[in-house]
Amino acid sequence: MRRVVAPNPGPYTGPGTNTWILGDEPVLAVIDPGPDDDAHLAAIERKLGAAQVGVILVTHSHPDHLPLAEKLSASRQARVAHWPELADGDLVRVGQLELQALHTPGHAADHLCFWLPSDRVLFTGDLILGRGSSMVTYPEGDVAAYLRSLERVALLEPRMLFPGHWDPVADAAGKIAEYRTHRLARERQVVHELEAGGPGTAAVLTRRVYGREVEGEELLRAAEMTLRAHLKKLLDEGRVRLAGEVYALER
Ligand SMILES: [Zn+2]
Repeated sequence: MRRVVAPNPGPYTGPGTNTWILGDEPVLAVIDPGPDDDAHLAAIERKLGAAQVGVILVTHSHPDHLPLAEKLSASRQARVAHWPELADGDLVRVGQLELQALHTPGHAADHLCFWLPSDRVLFTGDLILGRGSSMVTYPEGDVAAYLRSLERVALLEPRMLFPGHWDPVADAAGKIAEYRTHRLARERQVVHELEAGGPGTAAVLTRRVYGREVEGEELLRAAEMTLRAHLKKLLDEGRVRLAGEVYALER
């Protein structure tokens, strides 16, 4: 397994997007080529050397994962594969390597993880990161789908996780459980806030739930989109109702 970290560090990307190169020469697979950045393309090309690229896999179409696929595909005459050409359960063979695509929506509707059964290794994209938590934000994010995706990958009992950002995770089961707990704790917090503090708009509830942890307009906006994603799930489940812009607990 080789990794090239893209030069796009930031609060949501950590040190940068991880581009994973795997397989046995002469044919390799690339997962998540990353942002359209010539320096990153050159770094990937150097790591690939004279090897052939059998396939370029993309976990999801966000701008820090997909865009470089086009240039890499052109320079290596390699096909690009992502959702929905790759469907849930599809097998991808590259030389001796066999990977399985798993549709794991939540962070993004088109999100795939790639499972390497021979090594019990899971490439998690942005479903699970090496550090912090994944963004599941309204309107694109889907908390209910996200929780189902976490439960699904837990059943694989992976030995190791290779995320889209930050370092590989050796305690795969622990990390998946941590992510699940975090998401459910946030939901309980939202329900508790509606219970104890009464109804409110998304903006008001954001300040009540996140007020102590989040500072700055941009982060507060992201927090509100996270909160809205939770409220959407609670609405769908009939646990919360919406009158105008005011959310209230259903009793
Ligand atoms: Zn993403």
